[in-house]
Amino acid sequence: MGYTIAQKIIKNHLVCGEMTVGSDIGLKIDQTLTQDATGTMAYIEYEAMGIPRVKTEKSVAYIDHNTLQTGFENADDHRFIQSVCKKHGIYFSRPGNGICHQVHLERFGKPGKTLIGSDSHTPTGGGIGMLAIGAGGLDVAVAMGGGAYYITMPKMVRVNLTGKLSPWVSAKDIILAVLRVMSVKGGVGKIVEYGGEGVATLTVPERATITNMGAELGATTSVFPSDETTRKFLKAQGREEDYTELKADDDAVYDEVIEINLSELEPLAACPHSPDNVKPIKELEGKKIDQVCIGSCTNSSYLDLMRVAHILKGKKVADNVSLAIAPGSKQVFNMLALNGALGDMIAAGARILESACGPCIGMGQSPNSGGISLRTFNRNFEGRSGTADGQIYLVSPETAAVSAINGVFTDPRCLGAAAEIEMPEKFLINDNMVIDPAPVEEMDSVEILRGPNIKSYPETHPLTDSIEASCSLKVGDNITTDHIMPAGAKILPLRSNIPKISEHCFTVCDKEFPTRAKTLGKSIIVGGENYGQGSSREHAALAPLFLGVKAVLVKSFARIHKSNLINAGILPLTFVNAEDYDKIKLGDMLELPNVKDEIANGKQVTVINKTTGDTIVADCELSDRTRNIIIAGGLLDYTKENS
Ligand code: SF4
Repeated sequence: MGYTIAQKIIKNHLVCGEMTVGSDIGLKIDQTLTQDATGTMAYIEYEAMGIPRVKTEKSVAYIDHNTLQTGFENADDHRFIQSVCKKHGIYFSRPGNGICHQVHLERFGKPGKTLIGSDSHTPTGGGIGMLAIGAGGLDVAVAMGGGAYYITMPKMVRVNLTGKLSPWVSAKDIILAVLRVMSVKGGVGKIVEYGGEGVATLTVPERATITNMGAELGATTSVFPSDETTRKFLKAQGREEDYTELKADDDAVYDEVIEINLSELEPLAACPHSPDNVKPIKELEGKKIDQVCIGSCTNSSYLDLMRVAHILKGKKVADNVSLAIAPGSKQVFNMLALNGALGDMIAAGARILESACGPCIGMGQSPNSGGISLRTFNRNFEGRSGTADGQIYLVSPETAAVSAINGVFTDPRCLGAAAEIEMPEKFLINDNMVIDPAPVEEMDSVEILRGPNIKSYPETHPLTDSIEASCSLKVGDNITTDHIMPAGAKILPLRSNIPKISEHCFTVCDKEFPTRAKTLGKSIIVGGENYGQGSSREHAALAPLFLGVKAVLVKSFARIHKSNLINAGILPLTFVNAEDYDKIKLGDMLELPNVKDEIANGKQVTVINKTTGDTIVADCELSDRTRNIIIAGGLLDYTKENS
């Protein structure tokens, strides 16, 4: 039996475990990336492990989330990360150099390699044929120290692309079509692999748009073959030597096959408040809009923005619309500046933002109250924009640009024949905003710059024989990491300061939660389906850890958040009978009388509701390794014990 692309990469990097679906496998990691919002903590954790120099082939720290500096905190964090990088052998991409995934694709990604990143959109690298997975900061710290990265061997899904996109239909519409079929839960425990004749019609940035938003499927990652298109892209980036061909064997076996005929697709939008709430633009046409934001790691490539500039050229942004454009990288920005496309955007009335995440993470450009914002981004969860009642629609750059001109939802196909915009044969290469680490012989003399915003990792404790704790919060289905640990201009700068950031934990759902949890000392959170979907931010586990949360008992978990809870030493429990969710109320006293013994022996966990007298049974699905992590009190303690 042949191998899929992902299976081939896994086989080449397998450190331990069997490649059978559901088994715990350890992978050797070639590259890591961090962004500043998760990176500060990842480097605090890396330092705590006491390993002098990173052992990966390439590790890069990007500053892209927190570039809106309204106080000393961001600047302190950036200097801290820069000094850690210099000392420990990590490349540092300065603020302004661009969004981590866009820059990594351009300058560092290599087909056939493994990449983990402390950002959930790390799968963007799958567009160039990498096995690129979003992970918690602590996982990245461990990988930088030479440790394996563990996942559950996923199922393989093949998305078979046939036909060719019609003019004005784009890669964004492909992934929205896949989301419509699979839903935000459909990719859990799976790797989505793209194949078929349609692949050759897509450029690397278009493939990367698709693998980027594969994160919204809940998939472990997504991957495209590495082919002649990949080679040309790498050549245009001045690094053809990084190319290797990569394709699935003809007799590779997939657990699921999805057919997408590109010729039949039309412009689509993901409507509020979920990326899988997909409708054709046709159905929304004529609806008035307030804001358009173009950029993010999903749609800010040279090709995307050239298409936008072409649409805006000689036109004017509608009076009722605020149009903001953030080029994805310095490379893109610089090329647009030199070829006149930037001038066309400015002349049309666009507000040009720096190359960073910006509005995608609520750092500026929040829409007006109740405002309708069309964004080329990947997420439209409630409140993520910074406006609690903002109505965010996810669309292609083409739909965004034409709608900005008309002031209403507009199908870009009304523009008639599409202009042929070619990929450049040579990109503008200038890596002067990437700072090399100090040579090994000089590393000892590098001082780590630690400002007052840099606090240490929260206190951890090994698992106790029993737990008695109140239910400090009860939430419903599809709780995102944005609900648990909101982002935004005021909160993001506190990412290296767990005591301070914890004051905002779950305040979107319940303003009293942080105070209540702290007062209780020990507590348990109860939730519904798909708990923790969304970003990889480990702060959604670290803040509850700091507030004394011992266990999270839900109907089901999102993958990355579950591993972040385990890494933080918080018990991830799921109801055996989903109806038992109704047997616990806020404030009920819960007892887990034999939890340590049950966990150690792989048994179900008994939860007694002492307030009502009900007994509830919970699963705690752990591998041998994650069981030992929970018992040790988290991955940091486990790593110290085992290194
Ligand atoms: Fe940045 Fe948004 Fe991409 Fe996250 S999803 S890396 S915030 S652009």
